[in-house]
Amino acid sequence: MTENPRGVDAVARKVSGGGRLNRAEALTLYEQASTHLLGRLAGEARACRHPSGIVTYIIDRNVNYTNVCVARCNFCAFYRPVGSDEGYVVGFDELFRKIDETIAVGGEQLLLQGGHNPDLPLEWYEDLFRAVKARYPSFRLHALSPPEIIHLSHLSQLDVPLIIRRLMDAGLDSIPGGGAEILVDRVRRELNCYSKASTDEWLSVMRDAHRAGLRTTVTMMYGTVEHLDERIEHLMRVRELQDETGGFTAFIAWSFQPSNTKRGGTEATGVEYLRTLALARLVLDNVENLQASWVTQGGKVGQLSLSYGANDMGSVMIEENVVRAAGATFCMDELEIVRNIENAGFIPKRRNMHYDVLGDPIVRQRDVPRMTTLAEARAAGDHSVPKELVQYRARTPAGKRARAPR
Ligand code: SF4
Repeated sequence: MTENPRGVDAVARKVSGGGRLNRAEALTLYEQASTHLLGRLAGEARACRHPSGIVTYIIDRNVNYTNVCVARCNFCAFYRPVGSDEGYVVGFDELFRKIDETIAVGGEQLLLQGGHNPDLPLEWYEDLFRAVKARYPSFRLHALSPPEIIHLSHLSQLDVPLIIRRLMDAGLDSIPGGGAEILVDRVRRELNCYSKASTDEWLSVMRDAHRAGLRTTVTMMYGTVEHLDERIEHLMRVRELQDETGGFTAFIAWSFQPSNTKRGGTEATGVEYLRTLALARLVLDNVENLQASWVTQGGKVGQLSLSYGANDMGSVMIEENVVRAAGATFCMDELEIVRNIENAGFIPKRRNMHYDVLGDPIVRQRDVPRMTTLAEARAAGDHSVPKELVQYRARTPAGKRARAPR
């Protein structure tokens, strides 16, 4: 990599002094700065924002409630088309069991995301959220990324603010920032994800959510067809909305996982991940927290992330099916996360969805079951339909057949 000392040095001085990077300066850093320099600058920015040396993580469970999806993003290895024998919907009872297991390991939240299943109407989500809150009043639901909310808006013919309001009334606590991929429409068209949400539509859902009082995260999936300046454009669009609403709690970047996807190709390297993370820390001067994506990068790069701008290790992995379908198989329970944080020279603390520190690791306080194997959303070979599903009107012929009385 060639360096342009004058240009890079001037930009480095500016950002070290607390200056805000513009697009051209961010690109100069990305293209020309050494990985060491990027890490040093991002580490300084992180230390300035989080001087205590605390690295947080959350104990929660990532449940993908259905893999049936009509969006067909070409980077996705998780979805199954309507009518597929491998399609599933998680039943209410199954979800309660997963919540019980989550509480047993000290968790207090579900991250709930899934495919765009035309046979699950808005009422199914409302009933699910209400049922969870009735049974577990203090349990939190971090659920439904912007494209899922747009899908529900199309399905129900109701506008997005009303969908958000109804979901909040049913128990929605915050919205995960999934489905952002790269917030540039040229890229979204190539990834076949423009129709699930254009850039403006994705950002508009988040604006509506923030205005309704929800805090949300924001993500970036890089390493497909985007150019470097388009990654920076993504960061700039996030920064602009954050200036407007202040509603993003955290930014999470991960690399495209190509295995089993229609798009295929190779995965970005660990160095590229660290450079991207560091640049995000420097550009997103108004976003408080950056997560390390150890799920896609592994524990070792996850540790390094803490020196490249990240101050959070995300969630203890109890279950994840989306990146697992694409070949990412890293898994860490709380003990492993704590070990990695401490070994990197930081102080591990549990947090909630709003990034408030809750306390020291649960494993230091009491015995908890170790759950290092990823649970399947559904037992292999079970094609039965959850019993409550028959109450909801299916829209597709396959859905109607599956719910017909036998
Ligand atoms: S990424 Fe999400 S929306 Fe796209 S095909 Fe996969 S499950 Fe569907």
